[in-house]
Amino acid sequence: MRSSVLPIETFTALERAGCVHGFVGRVAGIELSHAKAVVLDILNKIHRQAREILGLDNRKFITARQVHGNKIAVVDSPAESDHSFEDCDGLITNQRDVCLGVYVADCCAVYLVDRNARAIGLVHSGKKGTALGVVRNAVTSMREEFGITSDDIIAQLSPCIRPPHYEIDFAAEIVRQCRDAGIKEVHDSGVCTACDLQRYYSYRAEKGRTGRMLALLGLKEDIGFVRKVWDGTELVPPSSEI
Ligand SMILES: [Zn+2]
Repeated sequence: MRSSVLPIETFTALERAGCVHGFVGRVAGIELSHAKAVVLDILNKIHRQAREILGLDNRKFITARQVHGNKIAVVDSPAESDHSFEDCDGLITNQRDVCLGVYVADCCAVYLVDRNARAIGLVHSGKKGTALGVVRNAVTSMREEFGITSDDIIAQLSPCIRPPHYEIDFAAEIVRQCRDAGIKEVHDSGVCTACDLQRYYSYRAEKGRTGRMLALLGLKEDIGFVRKVWDGTELVPPSSEI
């Protein structure tokens, strides 16, 4: 899915899994010299349109007040309203009525999707959060909370800042964390945000006067094939079912 109006990227590896996702890049025509609050207000409206385009606007929007830490918020029951979790940098859920959102502007958004569509995770992992093991924590939480084994997880890294535009290759460290956690299918976009200011915001390259990209992730509503797997009556590879 690609919007002609809004810059929404999708990742091939996730299209095979039972999720709806998108990565909203730089929006043309927004004057970044405005006060930060004004810029973010304009972006919020556009990000709402992005959720509409992806068909996620009727769901509760779950975000985090990201602090470059390593805490994970768990949504394991139907959400009553939109919510932003304090002091968290990762979100995991097994609920189908929610849309997870993570904001980045050089840091990496890491998508974690169970190939059998039972649970998902979305993580904000920059230099500090990566050093604190936030992605590792999210994988552990998906196992402990929802019984998702690493074998079943597909990991996808969004565009983020990389050498030589940044002194530390935290994307490589995120990939290592995923592999150490037992995830076999790890995909990295390999794209550097500071290299392409036409498509992305970069906090470093634009010296803080920039916008925010938004990573969006939700489970697919149609769970027919999941029930089939759960019933144990007929075990079919999910890829042939969706
Ligand atoms: Zn670069």
